[in-house]
Amino acid sequence: AASFSGKRVSLFGLGGSGIATARALIAGGADVLAWDDNPDSVAKAGAVGIPTGDLRGADWAKFSAFVLSPGVPLTHPKPHWTVELAKGAGVEVIGDIELFCRERTLQAPTAPFIAITGTNGKSTTTALTAHILKAAGRDTQMGGNIGRAVMTLDPPEPSRHYVVECSSYQIDLAPSINPTAGILLNLTPDHLDRHGTMQHYALIKERLVAGSETAIIGIDDSWCAQIADRLERAGRHVIRISKRLPLTDGYFADGSDLMEAVDGRYSRVAFLEGIGSLRGQHNAQNALAAVAACLKVGLDLGEIQSGLESFPGLAHRMEQVGRKDHVLFINDSKATNADAAAPALSSFPRIYWIAGGLPKEGGIEPLRGFFPRIAKAYLIGEAAPAFSATLGETVPYEISGTLAAAVAHAADDAAKDGSGEAVVLLSPACASFDQFKNFEVRGEAFRQAANAIEGVKPIGG
Ligand code: ADP
Repeated sequence: AASFSGKRVSLFGLGGSGIATARALIAGGADVLAWDDNPDSVAKAGAVGIPTGDLRGADWAKFSAFVLSPGVPLTHPKPHWTVELAKGAGVEVIGDIELFCRERTLQAPTAPFIAITGTNGKSTTTALTAHILKAAGRDTQMGGNIGRAVMTLDPPEPSRHYVVECSSYQIDLAPSINPTAGILLNLTPDHLDRHGTMQHYALIKERLVAGSETAIIGIDDSWCAQIADRLERAGRHVIRISKRLPLTDGYFADGSDLMEAVDGRYSRVAFLEGIGSLRGQHNAQNALAAVAACLKVGLDLGEIQSGLESFPGLAHRMEQVGRKDHVLFINDSKATNADAAAPALSSFPRIYWIAGGLPKEGGIEPLRGFFPRIAKAYLIGEAAPAFSATLGETVPYEISGTLAAAVAHAADDAAKDGSGEAVVLLSPACASFDQFKNFEVRGEAFRQAANAIEGVKPIGG
């Protein structure tokens, strides 16, 4: 990272990505002093030649920048005092995405750079965009808040494409973020614990698109619609996308067709019909954003369509894991609250629903509108009593207790369903920690249980 060549840079957070960032800075000629509150991490960094030292005693006046590693929250009590010290001494506080942006600007400013943010759908859109580019034969690097930390990606070259997922926190620490195409998918009240008000949260997310050559914005919520209007008034290039409204200009979904609108004239640019990994309206939003970004960097419609069709989907997000005759097994273990379970429940007409775990506030009350789609519910974990009370008389249910029992019973019942496609859906609307280490382990357990049923043909994995 030559952007700090000859300068002193302090860094906090020496996990894998922090170490990668520190090494990149050193390789670029920076004079680094790094620290972590975990002595083992400090020792590991020292062992690979990174100078370490407690930043509390550091002479802050000497530093050009203070880099916070990905994964170190700004409000984390440990670096918090350090951030205050740095800011007090007029030292800029930045993250690894900022380093990446400066590096790209220095080395290869024309390297296509697609940055993605929003409340929901970031990972799916990032993975989908990177997949389409790769499938079209473009040199593609994907990272950020998904997969690899940006400073561990291959260095910028003019023909190398970067697809980077950005959390609000990462945008907050990247003041000069300048993507070729910036995507803001949606904004709903979430993570307000960390960002205080919705206003503040929206302002941070807006910065990503405000810094973009082209801003691709989902206008289906009022926050994002206003941001699109504001940027356009400021003379920025804005592309609007909508999963439900026919726009005059931009990209919108008409059923499973993805349409382009130019001055009120429509043409179909792609379609999602039959693409199992992109079912549901929420995925139409993700796909529209990916399509707009890929067109921006010069892909043709044929390349885009074939990329959409070969997208395997992300694990644990409405992931098809197996099929037996008319019964499809879907792993949506990532849905750890009611809001996150809504897209899956809205995507299938006949559901054998496995739900429960460690309950969150509000339970499954917000999902009441989907109850008519639920043929039967199979309740697991600590949430079972509360969920059964909400389901009450309206939805048939059993308290299965364990995931294994739930899968076995749901599969049996769905097999007997005579009304077309039935799905056995794990979309728990709960955290997993009462029965599993994390949502990934829970999803994997579901996949195995489903595929252990006689006659089930595995999908993916
Ligand atoms: P993120 O990275 O923003 O957390 P993911 O792509 O991992 O988002 O998707 C997580 C869950 O959020 C999905 O399982 C789905 O339930 C929901 N989701 C995905 N895309 C969208 C979207 N565009 N709008 C609303 N919800 C979505």
